[in-house]
Amino acid sequence: MATAATAVEREADRLTELDSAIGDADHGSNLLRGFTAVRAALEEHPPAAPGAVLQLAGRTLISTVGGASGPLYGTLLRRTGKELGEDAEVSDEELRKALYAGVGAVAQLGGAAPGDKTMLDALVPGVAGLSTSYRAAGEAAENGARATVPLRARKGRASYLGERSVGHQDPGATSAALLLGALADTAERGDATDTAAAGDGAR
Ligand code: ADP
Ligand code: MG
Repeated sequence: MATAATAVEREADRLTELDSAIGDADHGSNLLRGFTAVRAALEEHPPAAPGAVLQLAGRTLISTVGGASGPLYGTLLRRTGKELGEDAEVSDEELRKALYAGVGAVAQLGGAAPGDKTMLDALVPGVAGLSTSYRAAGEAAENGARATVPLRARKGRASYLGERSVGHQDPGATSAALLLGALADTAERGDATDTAAAGDGAR
């Protein structure tokens, strides 16, 4: 979560720029507010288990982000955390399955499917890539985000633009790739330390 917050801090302006083309120019500031609150909440009340970390992060996103992305990412993290339960240690396979369930909850809440030009266009290939590696997941999510450019938005604010949403990368798919990239960075590092060097690391 700390690496995700650092990535959001780094990319917030780009996310808002993408949202200014097909939305209301707040996606970066929404996530910045949300992840700043997540970082503070986790520092103030550090949970004992990974599942509880994700559930607290999800609740915090829901309560601090007004835009559509707050409830959607909040649901992703809450549901993933719930699947992990109270185990103090989580295997890669358990995390993969939990994230799969989390992405399913996002699809259910938002009623979107891949191809609708939303965060699911990165999340769905991303979680599929987890069965190969964390890095493969990050790359699949990146590719999914880039592939939203020619799509016409069918969900969310961008759908109001109809044909005019074509030709722009979806902000939420872009942030989803960023978050899965942060997961890959953390997994490759093999610990939960968030340093400036790690934030600018291998990617
Ligand atoms: P808002 O659209 O309320 O201003 P944000 O700008 O923070 O919220 O987030 C916009 C992003 O949310 C979109 O780029 C899209 O990826 C995602 N999104 C919007 N609606 C949905 C939905 N129904 N299902 C999945 N993702 C969605
Ligand atoms: Mg917006």
